[in-house]
Amino acid sequence: MTTDSYTVINPATATPVIDVHLASVEETDTAIERAQEAFESWRAVAPGDRARLLRRFAAVVDDHIDELAELEVRNAGHTWGNARWEAGNVRDCLNYYSAAPERLFGRQIPVAGGVDITFHEPLGVVGIIVPWNFPMPILAWGMAPALAAGNTVVLKPAELTPLTAIRIGELALEAGLPEHVLTVVPGKGSVVGERFVTHPLVRKIVFTGSTAVGKRIMAGCADQVKRVTLELGGKSSNIVFADADLAAAAASAPYAVFDNAGQDCCARSRILVERSAYDEFLALLEPAVTGMRVLDPADETSEMGPLISAQQRSTVQGYLDEVEVAFAGSSPGGEGFWVPPSVVTTEDPSARIWREEVFGPVVAVMPFDDEVQAVELANDTEYGLSGSIFTRDLGRGLRVARAVESGNLSVNSHAAVRYWTPFGGYKQSGLGRELGPDAPQAFTEEKNVFIAH
Ligand code: NDP
Repeated sequence: MTTDSYTVINPATATPVIDVHLASVEETDTAIERAQEAFESWRAVAPGDRARLLRRFAAVVDDHIDELAELEVRNAGHTWGNARWEAGNVRDCLNYYSAAPERLFGRQIPVAGGVDITFHEPLGVVGIIVPWNFPMPILAWGMAPALAAGNTVVLKPAELTPLTAIRIGELALEAGLPEHVLTVVPGKGSVVGERFVTHPLVRKIVFTGSTAVGKRIMAGCADQVKRVTLELGGKSSNIVFADADLAAAAASAPYAVFDNAGQDCCARSRILVERSAYDEFLALLEPAVTGMRVLDPADETSEMGPLISAQQRSTVQGYLDEVEVAFAGSSPGGEGFWVPPSVVTTEDPSARIWREEVFGPVVAVMPFDDEVQAVELANDTEYGLSGSIFTRDLGRGLRVARAVESGNLSVNSHAAVRYWTPFGGYKQSGLGRELGPDAPQAFTEEKNVFIAH
């Protein structure tokens, strides 16, 4: 490894995979300038042709699902099932937004003395900064609507997980997207990511990652009044009422937090259980947790893999060292960055394990007495990204979903992010909504034109 390269590590085995070149500020500037040049012709591509190119891109991704999944298993320690789903998500997201170029409608607004019409004009170069926890889906959620709306994209994968992004950049060219319409720029956040923020030709930043870096990016964007979408951290609650199907709630709860080894901004890392069902729920939860198959993700049957890095493991271990673990699953030994799925019980809403985003396979469980207290406890956080409510009373399900200050709630399920429904956070979980039918508009300026007659 040299100072301008990074050795990708397989987190399951702590062994090197490949060296990747890290872009400098100068190389980042060149990528942005070429993306700006490509913008003029990309925006002029007829809507139907842009749609066709995006569908062809989706088809080429589909031809490479197993190859992309294999890269993610090795680079990010994702399970095979997850990695294949993630590659398929890129394909599906491209197909969904390929319908947008022909549907970017403006409006005609009644005014005196003429005609008033609006247009959705693309912004120019969009900078997408991707974290290491879901390299493929998060890339696609920004890239697909941005390209569909006629923008060009420069995209920085996380230093730790660049491999699938680099390959997807190559597949875009194979599919016939013109050069520099999508440019993957591997590099450090402090170099490439910062340059996206400070370069005047980048007209919007889409950032997913930690709240601390998100705040810094928001401040940087303010300097140029640059558009920004932030998808940040979470400390989401899974609220289980005593009338719920407790067996179903307990069977699904581990997957709502331990999927991707808990490295998920939507992880339901707090479980609130109505006191009268508390003991029964914990008794059902224990076998569901200890039965999880925590194995090297190279094994097709693995349900949970390692953490992404030695540093992430030591951060998570720091939380576990402060508490008593009620029960935990297993994890393989060896050199990989393993932490077993662990359950902590607490009645202290000021405990660090209850308040902070651990971003690892740790869940805290707390009893509550009634609906009002459940909502209060769920809302007692600086975050507000997701959450679940388990109850057989649908009225209560809706009432609590409306009361929890969070962007994405699910009743009697732990629904994940869908590219066709809006996604984003309350409070310090983020700013703006991406995904869903209106997402392409968020990558445009609405221009108003009056024509006198
Ligand atoms: P970061 O927020 O540092 O990283 C996210 C992305 O931002 C990466 O591509 C990173 O690049 C880039 N980045 C870092 N610094 C800057 C900067 N100054 N300007 C522009 N881009 C930058 O997350 P970490 O990897 O450090 O993870 C730390 C914690 O953040 C986790 O433990 C977790 O709590 C949280 N997190 C939340 C995520 C979410 O989905 N909400 C995703 C990832 C982390 P690079 O990695 O190359 O430095």
